[in-house]
Amino acid sequence: MSANIIDGRELAKQTRIKLRKEIDRICHEGKRPGLAVILVGQNPASQIYVKYKQRDCGKVGIESKVIQLPESTDAKKIISEIKRLNNDDTIHGILLQMPLPEHLNASEIMTYIDEKKDVDGLHVINAGKLFTGQKGLKACTPLGIIKMIDSTGIEIEGKHAVVIGRSNIVGKPMAMMLLERNATVTMCHSRTKNLKQIVKLADIVVAAVGRRNIITADMIKDGAVVIDVAMNRVEGKLYGDVDFEKVQKKASFITPVPGGVGPMTRAMLLFNTLKAFKNSSRFYIYSI
Ligand code: NAP
Repeated sequence: MSANIIDGRELAKQTRIKLRKEIDRICHEGKRPGLAVILVGQNPASQIYVKYKQRDCGKVGIESKVIQLPESTDAKKIISEIKRLNNDDTIHGILLQMPLPEHLNASEIMTYIDEKKDVDGLHVINAGKLFTGQKGLKACTPLGIIKMIDSTGIEIEGKHAVVIGRSNIVGKPMAMMLLERNATVTMCHSRTKNLKQIVKLADIVVAAVGRRNIITADMIKDGAVVIDVAMNRVEGKLYGDVDFEKVQKKASFITPVPGGVGPMTRAMLLFNTLKAFKNSSRFYIYSI
């Protein structure tokens, strides 16, 4: 068997086309969705990511602006920028580009973002809404993964999903979203014993560790769906957590790295910005 590849780039492109159509339909001649990205410091990778995000916004008709602040900026200044953007009617999404310089406490600063503009879906209120089954903005990476699994036609309900990694950005919201879709979910982390035996039971595997080849073919049940979230840079090349060549011979569907989860994460930022825009205006719809 050779797994079908879940092509994140193509899915992201299709998502952008749908978003563009919808934005053109609801915004013609009127107000458009706006995204503000706060970038602190000169981290080269962050600068590239922010450029990509701006380019993506341009493709779908979202206005974007970058608030570039020097490395030495203190929390007070960033919070005052956030408050200004919270009150700016032309801005519907606010994103604090990570990582922040070491002297700043990201999770504390993020709490100042209006949760209705929290297009990263990581604000404690949005995390709480996900946990309690209320509607809100959802974390981009797991949201994109749900759409990737749905694209396979495989029903999530009733499946055993194993999520490896328990970060607030990926693992925990992923587990919640799979649970919301009625999967039976097991979460694994660095203290999990018998990782191999647990993963072997999974119909759906989501690997979000950050360690190349931690998931090998002998851990995978025949026909499992394997989602590789990780981005491990080794000698300038990008690898996931999954031993792709061997695992693809056992899985039914698998995501590549690069070209898998990453592009869909970016597409979900656009999706969330449109959702925030709609929630802010007379288009009061939570269900797109
Ligand atoms: P993180 O905060 O470092 O979390 C890593 C998780 O892996 C932790 O929960 C850790 O467990 C667990 N872990 C570490 N060693 C393990 C082991 N031997 N067995 C089982 N679990 C183990 O990382 P993250 O932010 O979630 O990101 C994970 C990966 O995804 C990274 O490579 C990151 O670059 C990538 N990522 C990609 C995207 C995308 O869009 N493609 C988005 C976000 C992240 P403990 O909690 O016990 O320490």
